Amino acid sequence: MPQVIYDPGRIDFTRPGKHHYQVAFGYDGAWGFALVPLTVINGTRPAPEGAPEPPGVYINGGNHGNEYEGQVAVKRLAHDLDPAALRGRVILIPQLNQPACVAGTRESPLDGVNMNRAFPGNPRGSITSRIAHFVKTRVFPQVRVVIDIHSGGREGAFAMCTSFHPMADQAQQAETARVAKLFDTPVVMIYSRSLHAGLLPDEAEDEGKITIGSEFGAGETTSIPGVKFAYEGCLNVLRHYGHLEGEIQRIDPARPHPPRLIAAPTLDYYVPCPSGGVWEPVVPLGADVRQGDLLGRIHDFDDHTSAPVEIRSPRDGVLMMEYLGAVVRKGATLFVIGEEIEL
Ligand SMILES: [Zn+2]
Repeated sequence: MPQVIYDPGRIDFTRPGKHHYQVAFGYDGAWGFALVPLTVINGTRPAPEGAPEPPGVYINGGNHGNEYEGQVAVKRLAHDLDPAALRGRVILIPQLNQPACVAGTRESPLDGVNMNRAFPGNPRGSITSRIAHFVKTRVFPQVRVVIDIHSGGREGAFAMCTSFHPMADQAQQAETARVAKLFDTPVVMIYSRSLHAGLLPDEAEDEGKITIGSEFGAGETTSIPGVKFAYEGCLNVLRHYGHLEGEIQRIDPARPHPPRLIAAPTLDYYVPCPSGGVWEPVVPLGADVRQGDLLGRIHDFDDHTSAPVEIRSPRDGVLMMEYLGAVVRKGATLFVIGEEIEL
């Protein structure tokens, strides 16, 4: 089993080769530790003449414990990446919120905290915010590129995408868009920063890092194309920056167009459900829609003769996100129609 690290300050992030660890975070109310898996690789492949040193890259799955594509893809990368074939530094955490991953839940079962609202973390906080603080203070300083792999959970499903927030720094945004497209998903989503606070990507973006989020599946399953986009996309990022040799590969070569940039930059793109009931979607994720198109119906079974509530698109665009479950409550985000843009 990988070495257990009790003091994160003792991890040598510069040691050549590939090294596996379990970082121990003491339980809040019991004896024992959450052991967060960590792999650090410092490549030993000689630099080609005049080539710049590749930036450090950090990739995690399992920010949310019930999203599996990232957990699987990052675990495979930890196994497959060969330091002799690699230059620069790659840091991998397949199950960031390890207690949530073990439980198969979005939040940690130990403190009820959502890792993706816990940043920048707190060294004296409950266990989830202590893990977040470790990432912020020990991992982020080692890297310039951050990849946080997600999927929809039980409630929401997304068109297969990588994602980032709108950024004030145009050079950072342009490089981020370029890297997000290396995953070759049908769409790249630019999403609102106003939805929530405390996200891992917020923190990394604010530090000026190239920060990629993603949605590679939904519904607590392991999507076949989702794992492929996650795993192959990360290899493309490592080729792009010179860690690995070789050309960028198309991941979805059957699709004729490159990834489309779809923006949902403000809160009014995230439409809440007007009433509870049973949701009947009629448009597939990723489809182009026109203003006024029927997206779905909400059925009230208290009176089975009642007319359904018809849900129509407020704008022309692409159906980026849709409520996944059948039983929906008033106020849950029902859909997101994003608009195609050029940067
Ligand atoms: Zn997630």
